[in-house]
Amino acid sequence: MGSTPFRRYLCRVCGYIYDEAEGDPDGGLPPGTRFEDIPDDWECPDCGVRKVDFDLLEESAEALEAAEAPAMRSVDLAAGQGADQVVIIGGGMAAWAVAEALRAQDEARPITLVTRCNGDVYYKPQLSAAAARGRTPDDLVQAAGEDKARELGVNLVARTRALAIDTDRRRVITPRGGVPYGDLVLATGARQPRPSLQGNAATEVLQVNDLAAYRRLRERVDAHDPARVLIMGAGLIGCEFAEDLSGAGHRITLVDIADRPLSRLLPAQVSGDLQAALSEKGVDLRLGRTVATVTRTGEGPYTVTLDDDTRLEVDVVVSALGLIPSTRLAEKAGLAVGHGIRVDERLRTSDPRIRALGDCSEHEGHLLPYVQPLKAQARVIGAALAGDEDAVYRAEPGTVRVKTPSLPLAVWSPWTAGEWSEKTSEEAGRVMLHYSGAALTGFALSGRQVRQGPKLEKAIRAGKSPDAA
Ligand SMILES: Cc1cc2nc3c(=O)[nH]c(=O)nc-3n(C[C@H](O)[C@H](O)[C@H](O)COP(=O)(O)OP(=O)(O)OC[C@H]3O[C@@H](n4cnc5c(N)ncnc54)[C@H](O)[C@@H]3O)c2cc1C
Repeated sequence: MGSTPFRRYLCRVCGYIYDEAEGDPDGGLPPGTRFEDIPDDWECPDCGVRKVDFDLLEESAEALEAAEAPAMRSVDLAAGQGADQVVIIGGGMAAWAVAEALRAQDEARPITLVTRCNGDVYYKPQLSAAAARGRTPDDLVQAAGEDKARELGVNLVARTRALAIDTDRRRVITPRGGVPYGDLVLATGARQPRPSLQGNAATEVLQVNDLAAYRRLRERVDAHDPARVLIMGAGLIGCEFAEDLSGAGHRITLVDIADRPLSRLLPAQVSGDLQAALSEKGVDLRLGRTVATVTRTGEGPYTVTLDDDTRLEVDVVVSALGLIPSTRLAEKAGLAVGHGIRVDERLRTSDPRIRALGDCSEHEGHLLPYVQPLKAQARVIGAALAGDEDAVYRAEPGTVRVKTPSLPLAVWSPWTAGEWSEKTSEEAGRVMLHYSGAALTGFALSGRQVRQGPKLEKAIRAGKSPDAA
């Protein structure tokens, strides 16, 4: 074995390449670890699938071609853009928001956008609010990637994974060659962690963090009328999918290890209200429980066993266990990384020619995986790349609106320790305020009280009491 050259393996799901020579030190695989020696429960560092989803690269020309062919046909990587161009890695909302913000200020500077997906433009929050409204995945596409690129004058390099950043030569390395940059923007998003499960169907559990995965979810769910869907994780995404799929007529079981939904975001009273609203809607909540095994015989339904030995028969299993920022490229390039890619108030990483925003970035120790922050961050980056270095981004928790129509919620999650106190609890909804000493530092609103959000936001920013704002 010692004399066999190292080989490379391609992840069929996201295009990550496992190189035996490099291993995956963060995932516990030292350089030189042979593919056959990797444990079965090792996860792809970028998308979380297991070893079975990898093909030997040298023998998988078909897979590589399928992943890259459309982009190869239509795009010349450098496309005469010049070495001072702005290169954006990513094709989600953050990437397109930067391209738009820069174009609004500078019509001329060349932009190349490199993304492993097809670059189609869609509003990701709609993934968990489409089924009940009868909207199909196709309905969610606002513009094809190529059309958006043409509109903005962007050189789109789609279905192409950035493998590394050569910060000395200022080049992004892809399987199809290098892309020179003057300034680089990382908008690589986040991935969901794979749940640790036993059973022969453990790898068939779905995770939804992009439109392609949402298509797979809808194909499976729409094949049943109604579908029995088990969702692991009663966080933001889990609760929203539970509400939406239940609104579309499906039968939902929602499992979480915590004893209440949205436990990390909401004070206990509001969590309790949400639990009651979801139950009334018909969602079967299994709280304080985890999923132990997922098994399946042939093409039949799944049997899910919980940790208390309860067995449930369902048609679809979805995992929604939070997000891990995609920081691998940045780490490999030697950039400062904490939970996400660390940036300063000008959104610069530890290399001032490289900026980061959106779900992959970390601000003053905080992750802000929401739309409002990424739009504000994109404006600052767009201005900076157009020459205005004075623009700064002030990180703040911001208001998170939870798309649970049976109980609308608006939350400003506090960043400082303090106490929750109840201001109002009536049929119209609840108002919970969070104080750190005398300062208002957060709120949680439900029902019609969500209208109070803008006033309370102002009070927090102004350091005033809610009544004076
Ligand atoms: C179901 C759901 C509901 C949501 N609802 C809300 C809501 O109501 N309100 C709200 O504010 N937020 C919501 N969010 C969160 C919000 O959608 C995200 O914060 C936002 O879309 C993140 O955008 P992004 O561009 O940073 O990341 P992503 O959308 O993850 O995009 C990352 C991009 O980078 C590409 N990429 C990654 N690595 C590489 C590489 N090495 N080479 C090339 N390309 C690469 C990927 O292909 C992808 O195109 C929701 C999210 C989900 C999943």
